Amino acid sequence: AHHWYFNKRPKDVIEADTLVLREDPIPALKQGELLVRTLYMSLDATNRVWMSDWDTYMDPLPLGSRMLGFVLGEVAESRNPAFPQGSLVTGLGTWSDYFVTDGVGYVPFPKPEGVPLADAFGILSVAGPTAYVGLLEIGKPKPGDTVVVTAAAGAVGALVGQIAKLHGCRVVGVAGSEDKCRWLTDELGFDAAIDYRKENVLDALKREAPNGIDVHFENVGGEQLDAGLTLMNDGGRVVICGLISTYNSSEPVPGPYMFRNVIMKRLTIQGFVILDYAEHFAEYNAKLVEWMRTGKLKYRLHIVDGLKNARDALGLLYTGGNNGKLMVRIGKE
Ligand code: NDP
Repeated sequence: AHHWYFNKRPKDVIEADTLVLREDPIPALKQGELLVRTLYMSLDATNRVWMSDWDTYMDPLPLGSRMLGFVLGEVAESRNPAFPQGSLVTGLGTWSDYFVTDGVGYVPFPKPEGVPLADAFGILSVAGPTAYVGLLEIGKPKPGDTVVVTAAAGAVGALVGQIAKLHGCRVVGVAGSEDKCRWLTDELGFDAAIDYRKENVLDALKREAPNGIDVHFENVGGEQLDAGLTLMNDGGRVVICGLISTYNSSEPVPGPYMFRNVIMKRLTIQGFVILDYAEHFAEYNAKLVEWMRTGKLKYRLHIVDGLKNARDALGLLYTGGNNGKLMVRIGKE
């Protein structure tokens, strides 16, 4: 079996020797174990965070260990009755084409009817629940509110904007290319999209959010967060979902300059980690699947083929090279 190993803690961007691909023999199964054949792996911005030595919601990845990632696999062989051969499993696994586990930390994957397997895994494993919880439970949008979302054409951001539209909000997205912005307004129904590479985000937000911002959903950090904070309405909610612009920095990064608005505008600012909501995924996903099936939620999957391309593919997230939910196809369905 082939596995990616964490070889060197990156100082900033992920480099060729950060992760190395090696082949190990597949061990014989002991009682209680199963052999998983990986079908898809989700690449997530937080994968870079796990490579840092920061104090976070997870222990830093030890050097020499297999790289971690959310996976969907098929049970190829089983000596564990909870995971019969041929069934689908999902969980926080390793970057591997085949791997052996005792099943701890894995759950059966209930493929919803009427949604392709790649779509179900790509949207329902992390991005969908993150958008759902972050917007609805933390952002608490009300009809007529103005919602701003950054990295808006990404996996989480595109869902956030559409869910906000379903709840009667005015939605403004910030994204990094003309194509991405056009997709947001023309296909996903965003009211406006701002290309941060072309325009000053604060000036553009003044134009596109003329009544101020009620919910700011942050995926990026830095100047975009500051622009949002500057224009928040009294009592607004600032959802800190991600700060991807800072994940490659081993040096401290400046905080928001407009932090005073947390007081002046009586803001609620809250971060969250989606792993804490795992027990509610079935409930959120039932709703998400209904919207996916009825075309109310649109999305793009950016699927890279082959385990050997995983390391280079991960880099796309930090340059905006991905168009939609980034994942790797490892084995045939
Ligand atoms: P995306 O599909 O949104 O991909 C990341 C996007 O971020 C890129 O396509 C790029 O879009 C944008 N980006 C990257 N670097 C920068 C930069 N320096 N400045 C501005 N934009 C940048 O990934 P996800 O949907 O998986 O993740 C989005 C965010 O959500 C991340 O911050 C992630 O950490 C967070 N997240 C948080 C979770 C939680 O539990 N709190 C769970 C899952 C995700 P563009 O081309 O527009 O620049």
